[in-house]
Amino acid sequence: MTAQILDGKAIAADVREQVRIQVEQRVRSGQRPPGLVVILVGENPASQVYVRNKQAACEKVGFHSELKRLPASTRQEELLALIDELNAREDVDGILVQLPLPEQIDENLVTERISPTKDVDGFHPYNIGRLALRMPLLRPCTPKGVMTMLDRTGMDLAGRDAIVIGQSNIVGRPMFLELLAARCTPTVCHSRTRDLPDKVRRADIVVAAVGVPKFVQGDWIKPGAVVIDVGINRLEDGSLCGDVDYEAVKEVAAWITPVPGGVGPMTVATLLENTLQAAELHARN
Ligand code: NAP
Repeated sequence: MTAQILDGKAIAADVREQVRIQVEQRVRSGQRPPGLVVILVGENPASQVYVRNKQAACEKVGFHSELKRLPASTRQEELLALIDELNAREDVDGILVQLPLPEQIDENLVTERISPTKDVDGFHPYNIGRLALRMPLLRPCTPKGVMTMLDRTGMDLAGRDAIVIGQSNIVGRPMFLELLAARCTPTVCHSRTRDLPDKVRRADIVVAAVGVPKFVQGDWIKPGAVVIDVGINRLEDGSLCGDVDYEAVKEVAAWITPVPGGVGPMTVATLLENTLQAAELHARN
C-alpha cells in the first residue's frame, strides 16, 4: 500500500479562501475587517520568519494587521501594559505574542493576560478549559488544523484508537482533547512512555509531535493508519524533515502528511480562522 498524501498546502489554501470570502462579505455589509496584532519581542530569526508569514497571510485575506516590535530587553511590565492596551482596543480582535519570549518574561503570565476572546492562539487556560469541557471557543491552531486535515480523509473518527506522541501545552495536550471531543480513544505518550512502538502499532491515527527527526518508524505503523506529522526539524544540510520516517511509513499507512507542506501551512490558515471567529464574537457582544 502507498499512502495517500494529505496535502496541507492545498487544504490550507481552501481554508484561507473561505476566510477571505467571509471577510469580503463582512466588509460589504458595513463591518470593519478583523484585526490581528502580532507582538514580537527580540530578534529570534525563526520567529521573524513566522511573524512575516502570519502578516502576509493576514493581508491576503483582507485583515487589518499590525506588528509591534519590542526590544529583547523589554521588561515584563511593559509587555503586559501593551497587552492591556490591545485588550481595550475595539478594532483589535486577535493578539498573538510570538513565542519564545526572552527569559526575563514569564510566558504563562503573558498568555493569561490576553483577553480570552482575543486569544487567537487558543493557549489561554480559559480556552484550553473550554476545549476540555467540550464547549470550545478559540482552539489552539496546530491541533485544530490537524482536525481539519483528518476531516478531509472522510474517515469516521468515532471509536478510533489514536495516539499522540508528545505532551506539550501547544500541541500534544490540546491534540488529545480534540481527538477525545471527536469521540476517538486517544492515548498521549512522552519521553517516559514504555513500549512506545507497541502502543503506536495499535493506533488507527498517529500524531507525532516529538521534535526528533524521523522518530516514528515504518514497522511501528498499523497498515491503513492515518499518520500526521507535526514535527519540523532542520537537518544539517539545511533541509526540513518531520518526526516520521516518511519514506518507510508511506508504504504502510493509508494517509500521511508531508513535511514541509503538511501541518505547517494549516497552523497559519487556522490562525486566520480563529481571528475571524474572534471578530464575530466581538461583533455579537
Ligand atoms: P516540545 O515542547 O519539545 O515537546 C516534545 C514532546 O515530545 C515532549 O512531550 C517530550 O516528552 C516528547 N518526547 C521527546 N522525546 C521523546 C521520545 N524519545 N519518546 C517519546 N516522546 C518523546 O515540542 P512541541 O512544541 O510540541 O513541538 C513538537 C514538534 O512539532 C517540533 O518539531 C516543533 O517544531 C513542531 N511544531 C510544529 C508546528 C506546526 O505548525 N507544524 C507547531 C508547533 C510545533 P516529555 O514531555 O516527557 O519531555
